[in-house]
Amino acid sequence: MQTSPSEVSRAATAAKPYPGAELWLLAGSQEMYGPQTLANVESQWREVAAALDESEAVPVRVVARQVVTSPEGILRVCQEANAASECVGLIVWMHTFSPARMWIAGLSALRKPLLHLHTQFNEQLPWAQIDMDFMNLNQSAHGDREFAYIATRMRLRRKTVVGHWRDPRTLQRIGTWSRAAVGWHEATQLRVARFGDNMRSVAVTEGDKVEAQLRLGVTVDGYGIGDLTDAIAQASEDAVEQIVGQYDSDYEVVPELAPGGARRGSLIDAARIEAGLRLFLTRGGYSAFTDTFEDLHGLPQLPGIAVQRLMAEGYGFGAEGDWKTAALLRVMKLMARGLPGGTSFMEDYTYDLTRGNERVLGSHMLEVCPSIAAHRPSCEIHPLSIGGREDPVRLVFNAVSGPAVLLSMLDLGDRFRLVANEVELLPITEQLPRLPVARAVWRPQPDFFTATEAWLTAGGPHHSVLSTALDLEAVTDLAQIAGIELFAITAGSSLPQLLNELRWNDGPQTTPCR
Ligand code: MN
Repeated sequence: MQTSPSEVSRAATAAKPYPGAELWLLAGSQEMYGPQTLANVESQWREVAAALDESEAVPVRVVARQVVTSPEGILRVCQEANAASECVGLIVWMHTFSPARMWIAGLSALRKPLLHLHTQFNEQLPWAQIDMDFMNLNQSAHGDREFAYIATRMRLRRKTVVGHWRDPRTLQRIGTWSRAAVGWHEATQLRVARFGDNMRSVAVTEGDKVEAQLRLGVTVDGYGIGDLTDAIAQASEDAVEQIVGQYDSDYEVVPELAPGGARRGSLIDAARIEAGLRLFLTRGGYSAFTDTFEDLHGLPQLPGIAVQRLMAEGYGFGAEGDWKTAALLRVMKLMARGLPGGTSFMEDYTYDLTRGNERVLGSHMLEVCPSIAAHRPSCEIHPLSIGGREDPVRLVFNAVSGPAVLLSMLDLGDRFRLVANEVELLPITEQLPRLPVARAVWRPQPDFFTATEAWLTAGGPHHSVLSTALDLEAVTDLAQIAGIELFAITAGSSLPQLLNELRWNDGPQTTPCR
């Protein structure tokens, strides 16, 4: 009962944001029911898989992989999922009753993300016709409880989604989880290049890179800034010219940087840095990077517009050597692919503490991603008071308004912790004529005081990822798959409960089986 690759429809592939990624749908059953019931299970399971596959809410292919009826079959398909690079996760559904000790060997071996879909084929009960054949075929209400018990007994991390398979809410939640599964798949092969080390003496941007590779799969490689300046020197004049042309066409370039402007040379320097960065990252297979203003030897200016544009294309970035945020940004960029909204490196910078209207002004020295811009960015040049180099070119803009999520990662010494906060981005109505950087203004949920006191008590960093494309459920799914503590400050949070959570989370940890 296994689908061969030739049977799999490729029609929907082009429309999916992740055309190379698959989820495998398994239906659990057992041989006891006989061939007729199993044939019915199979045809209904194929219909469910096709509906998930065709849903626009589910951004990956969904493959009807197997109806499993034996411990050997379950183990085999879990091992196949582990080995299949295109398989980003398993969805399991006990259409009938599947005695769960049959699942122990397979689930012990499984190393891919797991979603337990608790659904049933029919939406309504056919009250007048219902008989024991119907009851035999449609028993996920107790079959899935048997599965859930063994998964919990094994301390398996998983997402459980309850709902009819045609319900848009069900499809949406599967879609959100599949984005997290793709993000996890990316993390396990993610390579981060660091130009220079951390900003000297800074604590929170440090962390255990070996542990990050063990836990997340993320590889972090350090390079001297000379390796980058070599790549910049090798960048072709054609590449530099092409980038300058994009600056001129895509942004409001201030007159001093425009063709014939007094500081046109600085714009060309910025484009050369961008060309060199692209060359270096492409050659090395890096999809995230860090730099630091304390190590710019041989660079004419701190990379500003180059970093902003690379982020907009999907690269991860962390300033001051912050490789954890760089990796997180790359993963979240990938998770958000195809969704409306943007995702950026961010820093809590300064506050407006007007009573009753407390707000955060988020920004960075240069590096905010234009994917969150509310308008066409302006390309400007201004002095930077740190770093001791020439003035850097940067994109200046206001961020959009609306709901967003902040996510940040810290190293507690014995484990990583993710800290999330739901925030409301506010329209920026004030003029900021003397602030030459991109910025966002938000009100944290549930309120400024609760959120900020909880964030500080959790040890939450000043660097974070801000996303208007992803929501709290998406980052919760990512944390669950990764097996990393998530401390979430939400619209429904209260401070006593948040402080309790931090205390509980510091208690003895159960050891998950994977
Ligand atoms: Mn910073």
